[in-house]
Amino acid sequence: MNKKILMTPGPTNVPERVLKAMAYPVMHHRTDEYSALFGEFSERLKYVFQTRNDVMTFPAAGTGGLEAAVINLFSPGEKIIAVSIGVFGDRFASIAQQFGVDVEKIDIPWGSGADIDAIRKAVRDEHTSILVTHNETSTGAYNDIREIGKLAKEKGLLFVVDAVSSLGGLELKMDEWGVDVVISASQKALMSPPGLTFISLGEKAWDRAAMSTIPKYYWDIKKARDYMKKEKPQNPYTPAVSLIAATNESLKMIQEEGIENVIERHSNLAEKFRIEVEKMGLRLFVQNGYRSDVVTSIDVGDGAARLKREMEELHGIVISGGQGDLKGRIVRIGHMGCVDEKMIDMTVNAMQDCMNRMQGA
Ligand code: PLP
Repeated sequence: MNKKILMTPGPTNVPERVLKAMAYPVMHHRTDEYSALFGEFSERLKYVFQTRNDVMTFPAAGTGGLEAAVINLFSPGEKIIAVSIGVFGDRFASIAQQFGVDVEKIDIPWGSGADIDAIRKAVRDEHTSILVTHNETSTGAYNDIREIGKLAKEKGLLFVVDAVSSLGGLELKMDEWGVDVVISASQKALMSPPGLTFISLGEKAWDRAAMSTIPKYYWDIKKARDYMKKEKPQNPYTPAVSLIAATNESLKMIQEEGIENVIERHSNLAEKFRIEVEKMGLRLFVQNGYRSDVVTSIDVGDGAARLKREMEELHGIVISGGQGDLKGRIVRIGHMGCVDEKMIDMTVNAMQDCMNRMQGA
């Protein structure tokens, strides 16, 4: 199998160092060796989450982390707001609805971030919480978490953020910005294979969790925290030991580079990519100021499927198509995690070649 470059919005390219860390012999989890690894890893997560709060880890996809948030924080009939700017905003709202939470959904047209006034208008005293997607991977738009955080604070809402595709790529300061709950996953800007989800709760969120009546067992975050707080940190059930070893290495890489530098690298590469895309005469799907620095959506009309296929077949570069209503209309190029200027250049050159072929040049 030829090695392909993943310019997708997850899973993303996993650096050699991280792959090597995953290839070590599997260690038993009820050992001092594992406790030391898990303790170190959980501290590194706090650095990337930019929080002093504990960050719990579960073996699961990011969707599991979203479900963990819902069932640990809310109760049936509880009234909450969910802001949706695309597929993943819809998903978060839908998970809450499945568990009987009374969700008032704010639907923002796809291709934009949420306007703060639209949220302000929808909030009523009966609402306890607000769910927001940081980076909407399906459209390439992001939400202004700092601004929404101010509103959440003013209105006394518990602020829950899906940062599955943004953490480690877009600036997100959990403590400084007053975010009560942050959920993420291993396979995107964190440069690791899929399979781990992370959830961090602030003090206010732990108080809410104490009142939640939705049944939970596997996803019980209090139990996960109790095990993590043991003198020798542990998990209630068998952890994904090799993935934790891998992600410990990728978090170490982020620490070595420095989180501010990592965010700046993403911002510079995204800007460079957007300029090149427009130079090619292509139209960026997000038309206002909410363009994401981790994924770029390009409106290529009927050519989306062919462009995606030929990028992979002719150039070994995997990109993504549209989701939901955008299927067949856009392509999405991920530039998150282990990405540098050379990879952006390769992607641009390959796209130019594919576009020339499609235009019969
Ligand atoms: N939330 C966002 C913003 C995502 O981008 C994704 C995946 O792309 C998810 C949630 C779901 O993550 P997973 O596919 O790991 O369940």
